[in-house]
Amino acid sequence: MSSPPIKIGMLGGTFDPVHHGHLRSALEVREALGLDRLHMIPAPKPPLRGAPQVSAEQRLALLNAGIGDTPGLYADDRELRREGPSYSIDTLAQLRAEYGEQARLVMVIGFDAFLRLHQWYRAGDLFSLAHVVVMARPGYQMPWTSELRELVGECEVESVDSLMQYPNGGLLTLSLPSMMAISATYIRQRLREGKSIHYLLPNAVEEAIRENGFYQHFSQHDE
Ligand code: ATP
Repeated sequence: MSSPPIKIGMLGGTFDPVHHGHLRSALEVREALGLDRLHMIPAPKPPLRGAPQVSAEQRLALLNAGIGDTPGLYADDRELRREGPSYSIDTLAQLRAEYGEQARLVMVIGFDAFLRLHQWYRAGDLFSLAHVVVMARPGYQMPWTSELRELVGECEVESVDSLMQYPNGGLLTLSLPSMMAISATYIRQRLREGKSIHYLLPNAVEEAIRENGFYQHFSQHDE
């Protein structure tokens, strides 16, 4: 009897810095989808944003500190090692090549990121490589735009079981149990204002931020 196909997730982001909104969602989405592994992948310089204030390597170090030894979550530096702009489609193609044709490959994104999915590089090809799972995020309840409807087409499915029947090509929206209204923007703002960030992110990440004096000065990125 052949073994069931491996289930792999990818959660890309700036992680500037990683916080409990990312980490709790990562853990819960892994659980909900039964993923063997969730790759959390910092982008060196996200194509749709300004330059982050803290370097990509430092954001990766914070991500590693945040994940610690959490089973199934993995801080993946592949986009930092890549030359040129970093696009999710290239990352998914790499993961597909590594895990094989039968692997269930899922790109996980928050609803705020999903709202701009049609603007991503080669957005129309994403579904030929992976499924897309959209996590609800507090504060983002707006209806899908016509561009998004067109992009998603007939891909939408209603359950994890339907999604996992195929290696790619489905879209599922999920409301995870512990939705958190935490954002990295809010954390950077509080640090600039000298306010507490306790309980918004793991202690190890808070300590590293304090030790290195990260995010304490105003930058153009936060204008
Ligand atoms: P910023 O405030 O700097 O824009 P962010 O907190 O939104 O950052 P990102 O690194 O941009 O964090 O997010 C990476 C991915 O995680 C995105 O798909 C985003 O939608 C998702 N995400 C971030 N915060 C949350 C949260 N609190 N709940 C659910 N998903 C989240």
